[in-house]
Amino acid sequence: MLITDTGVPERYIEEDQWGGMTMARLEDGWCAALDRQTMLCTIYENRPLICREFEMGGYECLAERD
Ligand code: SF4
Repeated sequence: MLITDTGVPERYIEEDQWGGMTMARLEDGWCAALDRQTMLCTIYENRPLICREFEMGGYECLAERD
């Protein structure tokens, strides 16, 4: 979810039925800004605040990877 403007390109943003802004997902369910080959963020310098605060290697990270 986008709660601040960090400069995410518009082509990666979707608006839900309540007007909330989220990162778009592709058919595989992963974020549209994720490089599927390298598994790296293609907009790292402009990634959303939530992505910046997500603890790498933390419980939620490991659960998502499972
Ligand atoms: S950090 Fe991950 S979830 Fe966040 S914008 Fe980049 S690819 Fe998407």
